[in-house]
Amino acid sequence: MSTVPRTIRIHPDDNVAVVVNDGGLPTGTTLPGGPTLVQAVPQGHKVALNDLPAGTPVRRYNVVIGHTAVDIPAGGWVNGQRLVMPEARSFENLPAPQPPADLSPLDGHSFRGYRNADGSVGTRNLLAVTTTVQCVSGVLEFAVERIKKELLPLYPNVDGVVGLTHSYGCGVAIDAPDAVIPIRTVRNLATNPNFGGEVMVLSLGCEKLQPERLLPPGSIPISDEHQGPDIVCLQDEKHIGFMSMIDSILTQAKSHLERLNARQRETCPVSELVVGVQCGGSDAFSGVTANPAVGFATDLLVRAGATVMFSENTEVRDAVDQLTRRAATQAVADAIVHELAWYDAYLARGQADRSANTTPGNKKGGLSNIVEKAMGSIVKSGNGPIHGVIGPGEKVKKKGLIFAATPASDFICGTLQLAAGMNLHVFTTGRGTPYGLAECPVIKVATRNDLARRWHDLMDINAGRIASGEASIEELGWELFHRMLAVASGEKTWAERWGLHNDLVLFNPAPVT
Ligand code: CA
Repeated sequence: MSTVPRTIRIHPDDNVAVVVNDGGLPTGTTLPGGPTLVQAVPQGHKVALNDLPAGTPVRRYNVVIGHTAVDIPAGGWVNGQRLVMPEARSFENLPAPQPPADLSPLDGHSFRGYRNADGSVGTRNLLAVTTTVQCVSGVLEFAVERIKKELLPLYPNVDGVVGLTHSYGCGVAIDAPDAVIPIRTVRNLATNPNFGGEVMVLSLGCEKLQPERLLPPGSIPISDEHQGPDIVCLQDEKHIGFMSMIDSILTQAKSHLERLNARQRETCPVSELVVGVQCGGSDAFSGVTANPAVGFATDLLVRAGATVMFSENTEVRDAVDQLTRRAATQAVADAIVHELAWYDAYLARGQADRSANTTPGNKKGGLSNIVEKAMGSIVKSGNGPIHGVIGPGEKVKKKGLIFAATPASDFICGTLQLAAGMNLHVFTTGRGTPYGLAECPVIKVATRNDLARRWHDLMDINAGRIASGEASIEELGWELFHRMLAVASGEKTWAERWGLHNDLVLFNPAPVT
C-alpha cells in the first residue's frame, strides 16, 4: 500500500484539505506542495493549508463551513471543536432561479422491468400486505412466514412477500393537520411499483385508521377483473380462532400471487426508473468520492429521462441558496423554501438545535458540523436544474430531478422515498451501515477503500478508488449507472443476497394520544 501522503482539496480557494491515507498521517509528514503536519491528523479529517488565526473563515467546497475558534497553524488539525459554526442561512433574499440548461439527452440504455397497469414499472415482483394499524403486525408476521414456506415455492416468478408494518393507525391524533403525512405515506406505500398493483390490506377492526380512510375509493387503481383491495379484518365475526385469520390471509394471498407469478420482465426505457438517493453514516469522504459519483450518475439518469429524488432536509438546509438558484422555475424555488421552512418550524417546536444532525461517527469521520455535511450531501443531486418538489409521503408524478422533502433519518427517508414511488435506491456510506429495504433494492456505495475492503460482502460499489486515484468520478459514475440498470433488471444487491432489511419508519409530526 502506498505511503505517499495524500490529501484532497475540493476547490482551489479552500484553505483546508482532507487526509486520504488509511490510518491518517503522523506529525512531521510533509504534504506534497503543502505544509508539514504539526500534529497527527486522522483519515478523513481536515488539515490547515496555511495559518488560520482565530476568527478566520474556513473554506471547504469554496463554502465557509465555520470560523476558527482558536489560532490554528499551517499543518494543524481543523475539527469541530476548533470551529464556530455559522448561523443557518435565512430564507430572506434567496437567489432567484438561474437554472443550468437542461442536460443533453442520453439514449441507448434500458433495463428489464415489470410493467404495471398504472404505467409504472417495478424492478422487483413482490406481494405486499398493507396494514392499517400496528396491532396486526404479529399476526401478519406469522402469516408472512407461512406464505414464504408454503406458497412462494409454488409461484417461483414472485420475488418475495413483504408485510408493510408500522407503528401508526391508532392512539394518534388522526385529525390533526400533520396526520396527513403518515396517512398518505401508508396509502402511497401500498401502490409502490414493485408490488404490481396488487393491494392487500390487513385490518384489526376498531382502529382509527379504518381501511376506507386509508384507501378511499379512487385512491388505488382497480383493474376490471379485480374489484378493489382485498381486506382481511381480524375482528370480523366470521373468524373463530387464530387459524381462521391466517387461512383468510393465505387464501387471499393466493389470488394475488397467481397474478404476480404470471408477469414477465420486459425491456423498459431508463425513464421508467424512480431512483431515490440517500447517504447515511457519512464521513468527510462522502462528499469527495461516493456522493460526487452518485451525482454524476444522477445526471446520467436525468439525461435518460428518469426520475431522481434527493432528500434529507437537514442536509440540504445550509445549501438552500444553491437549491433556489438551481430551481427550474420560481414555483419550484418557492416550494423548496416552503418545505424547508416548515421543517425548520418542526425542529424549533421540538427545540432541536442545529448540531442535532451530525452524529459522533460523522465527527470521528472528519465532518466538523452540519454545514460541512450538507455541502457534501447535496452533490448527490448532480448538476442539473431541479424540476419539482414533493412533500413527505407524497407520490412523485414528474420526471427529472426532484427534491423529495424528508427527514435525514435513513429509515424515514427510505420509507418516504418508497411512498413516493421509488423502484431503486442508492445509498452512500463512509462509516458503514448494513442498511437495506425489503421493498426495493438498495445499492450501497462505500466512500473509502478501507470500508470497501472490510465490508466486501456488504458494499456494492467502492468509490474509495476515487480518493486513491484509481478511478475518476466520471468512471465511478458510469459504473454505478450500469450497476443500477443491472440491479433494476434483477441482479441482486449484497443486502438482498443476505436478506438484510430495515423496518419501515413513518414520519409522524402530529401528536399521539
Ligand atoms: Ca440519511
